[in-house]
Amino acid sequence: MPKTIELVLLPEEAANELLIKELSARQLGISPHSISTVQLLKRSIDARSKQVKFRISVDVYINEPAPDAIFSKEQYKNVSDKQPVIIIGSGPAGLFAALKLIESGFKPVIIERGKNVRDRRRDLAIINKQHIINPNSNYCFGEGGAGTYSDGKLYTRSTKRGDVNRILNILVAHGASKDIMIDAHPHIGTNKLPALIEDMRQTIIGAGGEIHFNTILSDFIIQNNVIKGIKVRSVGSDNSEINIETNAIILATGHSASDVYELLYRNKILIQQKAFALGIRIEHPQSLIDTIQYHCETRSPYLPAASYSLAEQVDSRGVYSFCMCPGGIIAPAATAQGEIVVNGWSPSKRNNPFANSGVVVSVDEKDFMDYKDAGDLMGLRYREAIERKAFISGGSDLKAPAQRMVDFVNKKLSSNIPITSYIPGVNSVLLDEVLPEPVIKSLRQALVSFGKKMKGYYTNEAVLVAVESRTSSPVRIPRDNDTLEHPQIKGLYPCAEGAGYAGGIISAAIDGERCAEKIALRIKQ
Ligand SMILES: Cc1cc2nc3c(=O)[nH]c(=O)nc-3n(C[C@H](O)[C@H](O)[C@H](O)COP(=O)(O)OP(=O)(O)OC[C@H]3O[C@@H](n4cnc5c(N)ncnc54)[C@H](O)[C@@H]3O)c2cc1C
Repeated sequence: MPKTIELVLLPEEAANELLIKELSARQLGISPHSISTVQLLKRSIDARSKQVKFRISVDVYINEPAPDAIFSKEQYKNVSDKQPVIIIGSGPAGLFAALKLIESGFKPVIIERGKNVRDRRRDLAIINKQHIINPNSNYCFGEGGAGTYSDGKLYTRSTKRGDVNRILNILVAHGASKDIMIDAHPHIGTNKLPALIEDMRQTIIGAGGEIHFNTILSDFIIQNNVIKGIKVRSVGSDNSEINIETNAIILATGHSASDVYELLYRNKILIQQKAFALGIRIEHPQSLIDTIQYHCETRSPYLPAASYSLAEQVDSRGVYSFCMCPGGIIAPAATAQGEIVVNGWSPSKRNNPFANSGVVVSVDEKDFMDYKDAGDLMGLRYREAIERKAFISGGSDLKAPAQRMVDFVNKKLSSNIPITSYIPGVNSVLLDEVLPEPVIKSLRQALVSFGKKMKGYYTNEAVLVAVESRTSSPVRIPRDNDTLEHPQIKGLYPCAEGAGYAGGIISAAIDGERCAEKIALRIKQ
């Protein structure tokens, strides 16, 4: 049995495996020669005091070999002749649902409106260079969904460690670094994600599953409130539809697929408007964030680019930082021409000179009242209107509206904007023109408070780029707590972020697995 110990180390010490072995031996009162392996279990950074430290926990194996880590794909047996289950969307939820179905002895058939990872990359280049959005292939749509060109941070508020570790294990089996099993704040990085997603596709297809790219769900076939099938059409075709029979659908289309919400609403399938959050993405020089967080002039080469997490209650509204990307890029994440949506990503090394983060304000039904005629689509309409306003305000060319932080608080037009990481470019505007008044008011107060919590954060060197509007879904697709089926339509399984049950890669993956499990259970009964 290994002995588990904790060590508190300087950053340069934490990078020195030999030293870790020696210190482990000293703490256990044994000779370093008797240690066969020191295996890292957990690693976190403690930057509370002036001297930044790493806290690591390790398993020390004494005179015995460490077991090989078991990251195997062997559980994926061939299911090509098994009963098919339809999954709409190949985001983290869809992919993990597919893998779970294979494990349970069912054949997953994924319908995905976008292109495969490789072809999708060309559409991202067109967005950045020509400012043209392909409505089916962009930062949110295509193989791997919004997860593929995401930042790949793998934190979640889920408290079920077992579920989280399982997802991390599967990611490692498909090429992610084993570090994600150890780090307190695991991160994959945008440059590494596409290969991982391609490997997951190989596993699914290799086991006899199917993935149909460039294929859009266009309607449901329902009889007596029971799913009988779906209608799909090929992207770029003459709108002719093909019927696919099925009695179980996992609907994992993400929170950017407005057309899916419209389809449900049109078909009178119950949906509910829900609260969400929106605001701006803020960008500082990374060196400034490093100085503030690590209490130093320049960051040690043994420390990663620093991050932060801030929250403030302003009157009845929560204002909080969201999806902070150290060493990152602000991404143009719109899914239709005529709208601006920003998000953020970073490469695995987090080595860009910028630190960006969403700073968003909670909004709910009372904010959506101008759109009350839209019924349960009122939150969606509110979101769309702001995204369109941002497009026009930025100059109707995918340039994003932007303002320096202190200028924003002082209601002053910025005379210039420093270089930002947002490749399509920015235009200096008064953000009051873009965001609703309650959001503006809460943001102003919160940013000043953030500056008090993190000295140096409140600065005119920082730029606010609008609009960060896709933090979570403006619509919930209800489901039974136990069966996970839609309460009105048997065989319809609303899943993950688009249905309002997940917010991020890990929680979407977990929810995908849960829906797959419930379907397997139902069919086997
Ligand atoms: C730039 C960026 C950075 C991000 N960074 C992080 C991060 O660091 N950490 C994190 O946890 N989360 C991050 N996210 C969020 C994360 O990607 C999502 O939470 C997650 O992908 C949601 O998974 P999902 O499977 O529910 O939906 P999605 O990933 O949105 O997938 C839905 C899929 O459904 C497809 N689809 C939609 N409509 C149809 C239709 N009618 N027919 C067929 N297919 C359809 C879409 O093309 C898409 O592929 C980021 C997102 C972006 C855009």
